[in-house]
Amino acid sequence: MIKISSWGNNLPARYMNSKNLTEQNYSKSIITEGSLVFGNGRSYGDVCFAKDLVIFSKDYNRIVTIDENTGIITCQSGLILHDLFKEIIPKGWFLPVVPGTQFITVGGAVANDIHGKNHHNKGSFGNHIIEILLLDSQNNTIKCSKNENYDLFKATVGGLGLTGVILEVKIQLIQLDNTYIEQNITPFYSFSEYLNLNKEFESDYEYTVAWVDFGSSVNTIKGIFISGNHSKKGDNLQYKQRRIRLFPFTPPLSLVNNLTVSILNKAYFLKNKKIKNSTVKINKFFFPLDLIHDWNKAYGKRGLIQYQFVLPLERVEESVSKIHKKIIESGIEPSLTVLKTFGDIHPEGYLSFPREGVTFAIDFPNKKSKLSNLLNELDKVVFRYGGALYPAKDIRMDKKMFVHSFPNLQQFLKSKDPKMNSKFFERIMRQN
Ligand SMILES: Cc1cc2nc3c(=O)[nH]c(=O)nc-3n(C[C@H](O)[C@H](O)[C@H](O)COP(=O)(O)OP(=O)(O)OC[C@H]3O[C@@H](n4cnc5c(N)ncnc54)[C@H](O)[C@@H]3O)c2cc1C
Repeated sequence: MIKISSWGNNLPARYMNSKNLTEQNYSKSIITEGSLVFGNGRSYGDVCFAKDLVIFSKDYNRIVTIDENTGIITCQSGLILHDLFKEIIPKGWFLPVVPGTQFITVGGAVANDIHGKNHHNKGSFGNHIIEILLLDSQNNTIKCSKNENYDLFKATVGGLGLTGVILEVKIQLIQLDNTYIEQNITPFYSFSEYLNLNKEFESDYEYTVAWVDFGSSVNTIKGIFISGNHSKKGDNLQYKQRRIRLFPFTPPLSLVNNLTVSILNKAYFLKNKKIKNSTVKINKFFFPLDLIHDWNKAYGKRGLIQYQFVLPLERVEESVSKIHKKIIESGIEPSLTVLKTFGDIHPEGYLSFPREGVTFAIDFPNKKSKLSNLLNELDKVVFRYGGALYPAKDIRMDKKMFVHSFPNLQQFLKSKDPKMNSKFFERIMRQN
């Protein structure tokens, strides 16, 4: 039996039966009833917890082929993006879409159809996949792509690991001149100012994102708009990630509370409240949190909950002000809030989360029932305004919200493998 946890550390540790995916065993029947692949557990809740049998992909982590002229790469699904970068960045290549951490696997990037800071011009991860090689519970290895088994492809991209074991992924990389980003930082003092800045910056910048402070009253939203482009100056392709280990163990109580959050948010805003252009290292721009190893442990034994939703652009000022009001009224201060506007590039997956609109990813220390009341209230707003919740961050959405968030669920179910199952999916589907 093996103990697994996910990034939020918000669920009791699970002891599970497990198998390792290896080059020797993948053709044998490794999938049994209730199986699910565990990538690197960087999802925040139970989407990466198998119902009965965990299949670890960490040893299935090779680059299979790379064409250094075209940038087409095929890798095994257990490859961690950080290890991929160590190989491809010095050769002048990079992934077209990256999340806020490089410690996820290629399989995890596919199964949650992850998005990055460039959704407005590149869409999500699935938009750049050329082909997936999948193993199903009948022991078939199946190629799927836009040209072959397209339905299975659409079910597997963003398919939460439920269509089978993703073995290999072929993807088109983008070219990189060096490891720098030309960054602009601009403060804003209201949500409508954010929307205007976003409109202005989106056409000039490949990457845009904002850090938000909800403040202490309904009129006090402010933030820092961060945008960037790959630098054209120089040819330094060295790639190194420094990591600091601050938490050798999980403290019993959270170090993150209203007081520390308030101090840190104020300090961050003060540091960045002037418009500034600078050249920054690629990993500082994309993965600032990766500097501190296991930063999630700062939230203590109860962990953290990240609530990520997307709201349609129609009436977005109204819906966001309702969200804001409910957070202020609850008295719970989010520890980190990230805001991004998704563009209109259609995702490939039936269950892909990214869609046109405004997405907030809000971190909260796990305060059990008090937080749960707030999130139930936020759900009502997300539901009423036609928004959706992101399964990769979830431990609590109900079936009504899931069905509402993913209108293509029935098409997805036609390709779900009957033996693959997660705690997340079981929890959702057993409800009436
Ligand atoms: C600091 C931080 C920042 C983040 N930023 C972003 C962001 O900007 N954008 C974003 O979209 N997400 C973001 N995430 C979430 C993260 O990118 C996703 O949860 C991702 O799917 C985690 O990948 P993993 O390899 O750890 O997979 P896991 O969390 O272990 O698993 C995720 C899902 O992938 C499935 N899976 C994994 N490998 C396979 C395989 N070989 N075959 C079939 N299914 C498989 C699992 O079954 C599960 O359903 C962030 C997470 C953290 C901790």
